[in-house]
Amino acid sequence: MALDTQRETFYERLAQELAGLREQGLFKPERVIASRQGAEVVCDDGRKLINLCANNYLGLSGDEAMVRSAVAATETYGYGLSSVRFICGTQTVHKELERALSDFLGTEDTILYAAAFDANGGVFEPLLDEQDAIISDALNHASIIDGIRLCKAARFRYQHNDMADLEVQLQQATAAGKRHKLIVTDGVFSMDGTIAQLDKICELADRYGALVMIDECHASGFMGKTGRGTHEHHGVMGRIDIITGTLGKALGGAMGGFTSGRREVIQTLRQKSRPYLFSNSLAPAIAGASLDVLGRLSSSTELRDRLHANTAYFRAAISEMGFTIKPGTHPVVPVMLFDAPLAQKFAQRLYERGVLVTGFFYPVVPMGQARVRVQLSAAHSREQLDKALAAFRQTGQELGLLKN
Ligand SMILES: *Cc1c(COP(=O)(O)O)cnc(C)c1O
Repeated sequence: MALDTQRETFYERLAQELAGLREQGLFKPERVIASRQGAEVVCDDGRKLINLCANNYLGLSGDEAMVRSAVAATETYGYGLSSVRFICGTQTVHKELERALSDFLGTEDTILYAAAFDANGGVFEPLLDEQDAIISDALNHASIIDGIRLCKAARFRYQHNDMADLEVQLQQATAAGKRHKLIVTDGVFSMDGTIAQLDKICELADRYGALVMIDECHASGFMGKTGRGTHEHHGVMGRIDIITGTLGKALGGAMGGFTSGRREVIQTLRQKSRPYLFSNSLAPAIAGASLDVLGRLSSSTELRDRLHANTAYFRAAISEMGFTIKPGTHPVVPVMLFDAPLAQKFAQRLYERGVLVTGFFYPVVPMGQARVRVQLSAAHSREQLDKALAAFRQTGQELGLLKN
C-alpha cells in the first residue's frame, strides 16, 4: 500500500466509525448556549429554555456574586501562573482554598487539581502497589476506573451498591493476603441519584481493616444537613479516609478538583501524583471564587435548603402526574422511559416546549433503562418548575405515557 494511501485509510476509518455512531443513534451532538449557565439559558438559535440538565445544583454557575469573586481574584493574583504548583505555581489563594476545603469536609489536608478527573486519575498509583487491593463499585465513574488502571494494586469489583457482594470481595482480598484494602465508591451515582450506603460501607471497612474513599462530585456542597457531602448525610464524617470532588458542579461550576484526607496521604500526593506534578496550577479566578463559595456555604444553608425543597416539589409533582421515576431524595431525578428512541423523542419535544433535558440510553445506562435525567437547581423558581412540569405533562399525554 502506498504511504499516502496508508495515511488516507486512517481518516477513512474514523469517518466510517463516526457514520456508524450516527446510524446507531449514539452520536452525541452539542447544544450551543449563547448565554450564561443558569435556571434558564438562551441557545444559539435564540430559543430560551428552562435548563434541567446542568450539574448547577446550587445555581452558582452564572451567579453574579461568582463573577465578581472571579474578577476580584483575577485583579489580585492575575490571570494564570504558567507553572505547576511545586515550581512557582502556588499562591496564597491556593493554600487558603485547600485549608477551607479541609475545614468544610472535616479532613486534615487537601490538594487541588485541574479537575476531579485528574484527582481520581492521580490518587491510586502513588498510594498503593501490587501488595494492595482496591475494591470498587461496578458503576463507579470513568475517572475512578481509569485511575485504578494506572495503579498496580489488585482489582476487586463489587456489584453496584451491593453490600453482601462488597463483603465477599473484602473476604477475597483478605484471603489473597493483601497488605492494604481500599474500598472506593461514588458518594452519589449520577445516572440514578443513588446515594452510597456509607454507614454500612464504613462498618464493613472496620470489620475487614479496609480504608474508604468516596468521590463526592454529585454531593459536595449540598448533601447532608450543612452540605458537607454524603459522609455528613450518613453520619460518617471523620470515618472516610479519602474524599475526591469537583469545583465544577455545585461548588461554582467552572472547573477544578481536589483530593482531601489525612496529612500523610495529601503530602504523598503532592510528592508523587502525576496530574499534580505535571499539570498547571488552578487559575486564580477559580481558586478565589471557590474560596468565596465555601465561605458562603459555611455561613448559610439557604441554597442547599432551596435545592432540596425544589427537588421534593419536582419529585412529588412528576410522580403524581403518572411518570415513573427512580425513587430517592437526590436532585438527580431519572424519569424512566425505558425505550431509547422514546427517550430521544421525549427530550426533543421538551426542547420544542422550552425545556432542556437530555435523553440517556444504552450504553450510558443499562439496556432497557432509557430515561430523561432531570437535575434540579437552587436557582429554579417555582414558576420555572411549574412550566417545566406542564411541558412534561403535555408531552407525556401526547406520547401516551401517563398512567394517571
Ligand atoms: C463529573 C464527575 C467527575 C469529573 O469531574 P471534573 O471535575 O469535571 O473532572 C468525576 N467523578 C464523578 C462521580 C463525576 O460525576
